[in-house]
Amino acid sequence: MTAEHHDHTTTSRTHRPAIVAVTRHGAVLANRLAGAMTEADVWVSSRFAGFAGHGAHAFDGPVARLVGDLMARHDRLVMICAVGAAVRLIAPHLVDKRADAAVVAVDDGGQFAVCVLSGHIGGGNALTREVADALGAAPVITTASEAHGVPAADLIGRELGWRIEGRHHLTRLAAALVNGEPVGVFQDAGERDWHAGPLPEHVIHFASVEHLLAASPRAAIVITDRVIAGLAGRAGVVVYRPRSLVVGVGCSRGASCDEIGRLVDATLRDAGLSVVSVRAVATVELKRDEPGLVAFARERDIPLRCFSAEQLNAAPGQETPSEVVRAAVGTRGVCEPAALLTAGAGRLLVPKRKSRNVTVAVARTALPFAAASPDDLPVAAGSSTTRAMTGILHVVGIGPGAPEQMTGRAREVLEAADAIVGYGLYLDLLRVWLPHARYHPSPIGDEEARAREALLLTKQLTRVALVGSGDAGIYGLAGLAHEVRDGIDWADQMPPAIDVVPGVTAATAVAALLGAPLGHDFATVSLSDILTPWDTIAGRLEAAAVSDFVLALYNPTSQRRGPRFAAALDILRRVRSPETPVGIVTNAYRDGQSVIITSLGSVEQHPVSMLTTLIIGNSRTRVQHGRMVTPRGYTVNG
Ligand code: SAH
Repeated sequence: MTAEHHDHTTTSRTHRPAIVAVTRHGAVLANRLAGAMTEADVWVSSRFAGFAGHGAHAFDGPVARLVGDLMARHDRLVMICAVGAAVRLIAPHLVDKRADAAVVAVDDGGQFAVCVLSGHIGGGNALTREVADALGAAPVITTASEAHGVPAADLIGRELGWRIEGRHHLTRLAAALVNGEPVGVFQDAGERDWHAGPLPEHVIHFASVEHLLAASPRAAIVITDRVIAGLAGRAGVVVYRPRSLVVGVGCSRGASCDEIGRLVDATLRDAGLSVVSVRAVATVELKRDEPGLVAFARERDIPLRCFSAEQLNAAPGQETPSEVVRAAVGTRGVCEPAALLTAGAGRLLVPKRKSRNVTVAVARTALPFAAASPDDLPVAAGSSTTRAMTGILHVVGIGPGAPEQMTGRAREVLEAADAIVGYGLYLDLLRVWLPHARYHPSPIGDEEARAREALLLTKQLTRVALVGSGDAGIYGLAGLAHEVRDGIDWADQMPPAIDVVPGVTAATAVAALLGAPLGHDFATVSLSDILTPWDTIAGRLEAAAVSDFVLALYNPTSQRRGPRFAAALDILRRVRSPETPVGIVTNAYRDGQSVIITSLGSVEQHPVSMLTTLIIGNSRTRVQHGRMVTPRGYTVNG
């Protein structure tokens, strides 16, 4: 990393690290460290100066004052002392994470290098690794993105000179990255190797911005030099501007800075390109000192590159040669070949445009990695396929049934899905409000086959939704989807990401219809012994009953498993009194809804089916005005 990457910090500070030692061992370590780092300033307490090398500065007086001075003059500080001591010493000088120096503390034995401050933007993590390497110490880095191996949102492209638009969305993006929430990526310009190693699977590449927005991920990384409509202000969307454009400029003598600026801006705007992505301005040697052009480059803080007439003449790809120009400067063109040569590209993005005294052309830099050519980059929005495309499987809990019991996010995801897979009955519930979706109904039962079908569809489609009732993860398909995905041969394709969209589960849906029976600790038990041995179920049921949990019983019965329900009631009756309130709800929030409040002694008098959920009260559950209520505590009404 070089000093120019730190141009955001107070420029008067030097990037040379300052190393401070106040002990004998510290002085020796400081000396070793200084030997391994290019150009470091070493400060050693004068008592131990003899243990440090020749170049070390000895200091007397309070170390607090020295540290204050060093924080003002250096943007990197290594302190050989306890982390606590370092914290106290730097505390009075802290401003914010974009301005503060990187601070690393090293213990007196040289065992650990601990990043104390400015791990990301200030380069503290990098400094920590450098120090640890030099001393053979263990680097201690505590920023969350490093812990999870995800890119740090505020560092993406930083070393490549990229700029960030939508900074205020960085926090949401950073949180989504470290929390494993879905993050979409779209890139159509700039270096492709902006992250080291593979991205984690919750970070998903999309083939177009439209695909990305439709999938409504929690946050997004958009890397583009284009101005894309509909991005500004989208929550969590951060636009990174790679330095991927080169503007070639030709001008007659005396052309004004203003005229150059106007034509450059208009050219970029009309081509839908961002001026923030301009990496360089290029022209012919003859114009190196042309005042208007020099002023323009300085004003925009963009380097000016100049080429000789011979170099320009030899450049391939020029589209608008001119004999007039040849007569004036000895080449058939300036702006086009200058842009092409600087960009190392074979093709112009925008051929020559003219105003009175100025010509402008734009090229995109060739990508600095072997596999891709500029042709890989779609210039227009919305291309539908690229090699990087990966599908996503949303496992969506649609709630108990009625569309209004579905979450907003579930709705969004289903509306955007390219296909919806699920048990026929649930798909019928969706058809009511989403008639034109592409549905793949499957029979009840073989859930593994259903998960497989949905996963395989992601080979052709970007967004596939696999729906289930209630919550997708509660006795649902979400876990199965993860297992099945690992068993599929994805060949050269990236396996799809799995995004679980939560829903209102049967327990909370039926509880709402009954009153408030889940007001205190509760347990859910599924009586289905298809995937779980009955002994396990019976054991859990008994343990939960003994512990006085309120119980929500899912899958109470089916034609195949009649006797299990009777056995379950026997277990409960051994522990709880026959007066215990019991709620029996069938088809909650669906046609044929039935809500019954009875007691443990009388459950058999009421119908129970596979579309029923039962709630068994605890020892304090009461029926009040026809509603089943479990008190939260022991204060209200005794
Ligand atoms: N994932 C679902 C549960 C699937 S297991 C969820 O979170 O709700 C299937 C069981 O859920 C059924 O046997 C029944 O006990 C319960 N269930 C699902 N929908 C229901 C509804 N609308 N009314 C009552 N119980 C329901």
